[in-house]
Amino acid sequence: MTILILGAGQLARMMSLAGAPLNLNVVAYDVGSQKIVHPLTGEVYSTTLEQAIANADAITAEFEHIPDDVLTLCCNSNKFYPGKAAIKTGGDRQIEKALLDKTAVACAPYQLITEKAHLELAVKNLGKPLVIKTCQAGYDGKGQWRLKSDDQIDEIWAQMSDFIASGTSHAPHTIIAEKMIPFDREVSIIGARDKHGNVAIYPLTENQNTNGVLTLSVAGLNNSHVEQQAIDAFTKLANELNYVGVLAIEFFDVKGTLLVNEIAPRVHNSGHWTQQGCHCSQFENHMRAVAGLPLGNTELKHATAMINVLGQASIPTAVLEVTDVTSHWYGKTVKPGRKMGHINVSAQSLHQLGERLAELSECLPEQAYPGILATSTSLI
Ligand code: ATP
Ligand code: MG
Ligand code: MG
Repeated sequence: MTILILGAGQLARMMSLAGAPLNLNVVAYDVGSQKIVHPLTGEVYSTTLEQAIANADAITAEFEHIPDDVLTLCCNSNKFYPGKAAIKTGGDRQIEKALLDKTAVACAPYQLITEKAHLELAVKNLGKPLVIKTCQAGYDGKGQWRLKSDDQIDEIWAQMSDFIASGTSHAPHTIIAEKMIPFDREVSIIGARDKHGNVAIYPLTENQNTNGVLTLSVAGLNNSHVEQQAIDAFTKLANELNYVGVLAIEFFDVKGTLLVNEIAPRVHNSGHWTQQGCHCSQFENHMRAVAGLPLGNTELKHATAMINVLGQASIPTAVLEVTDVTSHWYGKTVKPGRKMGHINVSAQSLHQLGERLAELSECLPEQAYPGILATSTSLI
């Protein structure tokens, strides 16, 4: 079978690596260059998008910011999973919040903003501080503002109105203001749903973001007090979207109550640990779901943590000396802060995981990874 992936970044690469042992041949569509490429080597094929769609047995996506005409072409083939509605939901916070409201899944109180009066209303009704986000763009914390005091309103509005004005009546740009949630921690749930509606859900992951970017995910912690809330949210949202594939939901944990932060209709960075932590990784399960194959085992094999390698030219050799560490390099051009690869580390106990994280923290720049040492200390 051949699977076409919209997007040719690291997620397409890892789906391709997971698809090969299943006899799934993966090609990727690079949305930027509008070329069909090999997801590992970047080799450019002469195939057009239309031909790739015709040749594919199934089509999926590695990200949600996909041009509408491309989405429509793929949907018209009836081979596209998880479908246009799911991709649109993940790619537009306004649609995402509407889905959360419809399914009665709790999220941060919010206010949509298309004019300055709405921003003033948000300050009045939601209080300060506010997290202000572009609805149709942004990842890794980009396209966001933090409003802490009234004297920032004019300045932030000036920047927001530029974004709003850059939309068209066909594709309007909107902004959302959310109450800044004083969360205790961030967690995410990742699961797969197949074409028959069966679901397989991975254990809850605890995540640390540094400057808006995920730096560390840990699986295997005792989350029994909140896990059911995440599973319920997953089931409701996946069923409502008649979802096929892997779906990720990020939450804020506020004193044991989970509030949804956002939904990603795809494999997710906070699920990379499943490559070593489970029998069937999120990448394999996504490939299985879109190819119409049975879902694989999502149980935890052993406690596992994932560390993103940001802006470095390579993974330090010393990292690989730590027991049960695996390296996943994406082969991208280095840029400051860019996700270049990740490391997974597994252990037989949380205590041992803490020890291994302490070893890893010595090999990585501390200011970029303030959470690793603290997490390691809390586990030992
Ligand atoms: P990505 O898609 O890469 O996860 P993003 O750019 O879509 O990131 P968000 O996940 O919305 O951004 O926000 C990034 C981080 O900013 C969150 O993980 C959280 O740490 C913080 N954050 C976002 N919204 C809020 C909020 N309402 N209250 C408190 N913190 C927030
Ligand atoms: Mg996001
Ligand atoms: Mg996020």
